[in-house]
Amino acid sequence: MSNKTTPAAALPRYGRADLHCHSVYSDGVLTPHALAQHAAAQGVDLWALTDHDSVAGQQEARESAQALGLAWVSGVEVSVDFLGQTIHIVGLGVDSEHPGLRALLQHHRNSRIPRAQAMAAGLAAVGIADAYAGALQYAGQPEQLSRTHFARHLVAIGRCATVAEVFRHYLVPGKPGYAPHGWAALHDGIAQIVAAGGVAVLAHPGRYKLERLPMQILLDRFAQSGGQAIEVTTSAHTPAQTHSYAALARARGWAASCGSDFHSPAESRCALGSLPPLPSGLTPVWQLLGPRIVA
Ligand code: AMP
Ligand code: MN
Ligand code: MN
Ligand code: MN
Repeated sequence: MSNKTTPAAALPRYGRADLHCHSVYSDGVLTPHALAQHAAAQGVDLWALTDHDSVAGQQEARESAQALGLAWVSGVEVSVDFLGQTIHIVGLGVDSEHPGLRALLQHHRNSRIPRAQAMAAGLAAVGIADAYAGALQYAGQPEQLSRTHFARHLVAIGRCATVAEVFRHYLVPGKPGYAPHGWAALHDGIAQIVAAGGVAVLAHPGRYKLERLPMQILLDRFAQSGGQAIEVTTSAHTPAQTHSYAALARARGWAASCGSDFHSPAESRCALGSLPPLPSGLTPVWQLLGPRIVA
């Protein structure tokens, strides 16, 4: 796949790009087709589906977007490890058939099963029986099992009022339903995205609980590994964080991406396409995606 970029002047401006969301192929509740319809209805003009560790929904996403006249680019959200913390890297414009990327994603999905079993064992120890089977009711496949599916189950059985509350009480490090996964290293995740012809984007940087120095090291390693963009506008960012990550993108010469991280009409903080436009003075990530966008 070509890495050449189209001159900026020749590119559409995409005033309502949404380049981060999830379908039933990871921890979202809508099909790729329903997401494409929702995106089009919301006035989204460039869309990517970015399921966790899976490209299974990409063909449906592409076909649905094309049928709706919605510009589309391929996507995935890869979970990686950095100093024991989970970091998310969005890969845009990847070749979904790339063997190295597919192998990494399959490895991640395979190991979601023992990790979910360990989570269920932790929950059983505090009196919540059969959480594995319970969570599985909300996931398409055992290999997709994520903390979100456990959270939905715990809400359904009345343990907590909201998914966010389940995370706080049960699913974060130090809580009984948390189990580490063993994701690929940051460098390896980025390397496979780049090898698959994609642009690696640091997802929701404001969400990581890192002190100043480890954050600087993360940013340095992200760049050294081939990362080229960061999410500036995302539902996870406050206006102040959007402002500060815009400044970071300008200072580091990174492109800027934007995405709602939409999962579900009932749970998500904002609808597809409802984020404010990118702040000025930034290179939008679609300028790097050029011919990888299917218009
Ligand atoms: P996993 O890949 O299994 O570790 O699950 C990660 C997913 O859990 C994220 O992509 C979010 O969708 C969701 N998540 C993480 N933290 C929270 C939270 N505090 N509240 C709601 N959802 C969360
Ligand atoms: Mn998620
Ligand atoms: Mn994420
Ligand atoms: Mn996400």
